Amino acid sequence: MSKIIAINAGSSSLKFTLYEMPGEVTVSSGIIERIGLKNSIFTIKYGDGQKYNVVEDIENHEVAVEKLMKQLKELGIIADFSEITGVGHRVVAGGELFKESTLITDNVLEKIEELSELAPLHNPANATGIRAFKKLLPEITSVAVFDTAFHTTMPKENYLYSIPMEYYDDFAARKYGAHGTSHQYVSERAADMLGKPLEDLKIITCHLGNGASITAVDGGVSVDTSMGFTPLAGVTMGTRSGDIDASLLPYLMNKLEITDINEMINILNKKSGLLGLSGISSDMRDIEEAAEAGNDRAQTALDIFHNRVQKYIGQYIAVMNGVDAIVFTAGIGENAASTRKIIIDGISWFGCEIDDEKNNIRGEERVISSEDSKIKVLLIPTDEELVILRDVVCFAEKA
Ligand code: ADP
Repeated sequence: MSKIIAINAGSSSLKFTLYEMPGEVTVSSGIIERIGLKNSIFTIKYGDGQKYNVVEDIENHEVAVEKLMKQLKELGIIADFSEITGVGHRVVAGGELFKESTLITDNVLEKIEELSELAPLHNPANATGIRAFKKLLPEITSVAVFDTAFHTTMPKENYLYSIPMEYYDDFAARKYGAHGTSHQYVSERAADMLGKPLEDLKIITCHLGNGASITAVDGGVSVDTSMGFTPLAGVTMGTRSGDIDASLLPYLMNKLEITDINEMINILNKKSGLLGLSGISSDMRDIEEAAEAGNDRAQTALDIFHNRVQKYIGQYIAVMNGVDAIVFTAGIGENAASTRKIIIDGISWFGCEIDDEKNNIRGEERVISSEDSKIKVLLIPTDEELVILRDVVCFAEKA
């Protein structure tokens, strides 16, 4: 039986799900976390609840892919690499070029690398993952699934910046957003869980991971999203600043004696967010632990994170002139019960309330608002891999 692997290479993680076809049966899944940091965590789930778990330093995504494939064989999950007939890669930035998923040719891979200027943390990681798989499995169906595709439905007034129109016409300078597969998947699941047609719902989806974005989904389509021209915009993230006043850049460059704007952008992408504010870590678990132990900077980082998410939810209630449901997903959204509670408590005026008992859960689909809550609040583990798998299957069937 053939197998298809879905790859989700994030800025600091590489997630995979291996499916046996037909039937979309998950035979193995796993994650390599903290890639590029000390003590990367390598986890593979397989068989009858078996788990392979190792902590080792994994320096980049190419090493991660090699180790993953080697381990799948060693654990007997695959007998040979040839069992894998298709691979789907999540790619963050598709620009205006890729409005839907596409077969990866050399030309497509080149374009994905060219689009790195739109997603400096992700596209290079995505491309490295694609190359590593091409090297190991050159013959298989290889598909790119773009995070920006879901947001191509945004209206002009939400994707255009208030800068001279020629910059959009000539250089495609606009908002693209990201995490589209995730926002699409959780909004569809939310409609199923609420037993209502997606077309009738206004949903705000909060994808809170190392990278974080909030999307306004009206009638099943993305109408606005917090990330911008690149994933640098929006809410405070693990290492990214989120929104700032552009005038701060020349001011800081002058003070810091930085002459290269790329150095400044690198600081905003890699040294800011929770990491820059706390001075401790980009990882929410480390921040929560430090805040609990009384570290002021960690507490401030937490407060700012909650505040930014609340502000975007407020904005999107205005953008859609209402909201039926708020969804939490991704690493922080799925696991950090206190974060969900603090965010919702702070916007209770709109008519939402957390049920503490229901909220006391991790990584399981559930309505976590109280019975009386006008706005339903849902925890929905994202499943970008399933969206990716289905797109690979579409292309494999056409081949
Ligand atoms: P990405 O795919 O963008 O790298 P993830 O969606 O995997 O990110 O989310 C990573 C984030 O989720 C990290 O900040 C991590 O600390 C956080 N996270 C994971 N588990 C927990 C937990 N139990 N409590 C709080 N935060 C958590």
